[in-house]
Amino acid sequence: MNGDLHVTNIRPMGGASTSVTIRDGRIAIYGEGTPPDMAAIDGGGAVLIPGLVEAHTHLDKTLIGMSWYHNDVGPRLIDKIENERSQKRLLGIDPARQSARQAILSASLGSTHIRSHVDVDTEIGVRGIEGVLQTREQYGHIVDIDIVAFPQSGMLIRPGTVELMETSLKLGADVVGGLDPSAIDRDPKGHLDVVFGLADRYGCPVDIHLHEPAELGAFSMELIIERTKALGMQGRVTISHAFCLGMTDQDYVASLIDALAEARVHILTTAPAFKSAPPVKRLVEAGVVVAAGSDGVRDTWGPYGNADMLERAVFVGLRNNFRRDDEVALALDVCTHGGARMMHLESYGLEPGCRADLVFLDGETLAEAVVSRRRRKLVVKSGRVVARDGQALVEAP
Ligand SMILES: [Zn+2]
Repeated sequence: MNGDLHVTNIRPMGGASTSVTIRDGRIAIYGEGTPPDMAAIDGGGAVLIPGLVEAHTHLDKTLIGMSWYHNDVGPRLIDKIENERSQKRLLGIDPARQSARQAILSASLGSTHIRSHVDVDTEIGVRGIEGVLQTREQYGHIVDIDIVAFPQSGMLIRPGTVELMETSLKLGADVVGGLDPSAIDRDPKGHLDVVFGLADRYGCPVDIHLHEPAELGAFSMELIIERTKALGMQGRVTISHAFCLGMTDQDYVASLIDALAEARVHILTTAPAFKSAPPVKRLVEAGVVVAAGSDGVRDTWGPYGNADMLERAVFVGLRNNFRRDDEVALALDVCTHGGARMMHLESYGLEPGCRADLVFLDGETLAEAVVSRRRRKLVVKSGRVVARDGQALVEAP
């Protein structure tokens, strides 16, 4: 039956060898023999982990499968934003096709859940949202997609954008996005009034891109925390990037971490090599949920990225000087349970009763499997095999 599976010779989180039985898309039991109504798959000693969670990417604008984009874009954030708006039309970036390509690639690499920010602006309107909604509908059986309406070009500086944000939520976007309330819109109060106003009215979580540096970013972060508490949105707000948490004033960082923990505001990191970045272990130890994501994967912003969340775990480790096996496991936890907690995924994990969203990795130990990041042996979504030996079973458009 669809959603039933029995895999022998596997090691959950690199522990003792056992078997797993999946029924109706959920983990039923470990360690039992093959049920008479199922065929067994030999796991070959694979390390079993829960599905990877790609908690921040931009499915609508990847250039995967298109001609190489010659990047000669200027150095400022606004250069990249303006360049992209014009290139979308010139290059013919179809949000439905492109998001499908990346979603299938992600699934083949073991991501079973994706949160995608999707551009909403006065040029593209809500076509990006419609494209990713189409991909979610068509490929929902291989990967779950959470959609953030994202005002990439600013909101208040481009009249008409607020209305398009609202239309996006009516169409089916799940989360209200935002962007640098001070640096881009230059009106932090106005920007956050709109973001939190929409979230309150539509009952949606919030996920704000915050690239603002040091004290400016800290100021915006404090405003976000204030509003989270005022609206009773504890646990439903994420700050993506949060470069300001990597600033040098350690006393200030400590007070921000305490405030984030108290308001249960989540932090999303890409573990960037080029910027100051949130200190993952300190945040986790303070009780802050930390998730990770690829951000843009091969787009007009930059040529890098491959949608591999195991590689992202390695980046989290490198950026945070994680060397011990338990630290590598923490980096993986950020790329699995961290994202699941951020997105409030129900029944996520390896316990019996959890949804069977699973990845089977080649590896001697858990840490070895993460750092080696070989081709995924098997990816299972709701009990169905969606990828085998690194190959998705669904063909990309
Ligand atoms: Zn982003």
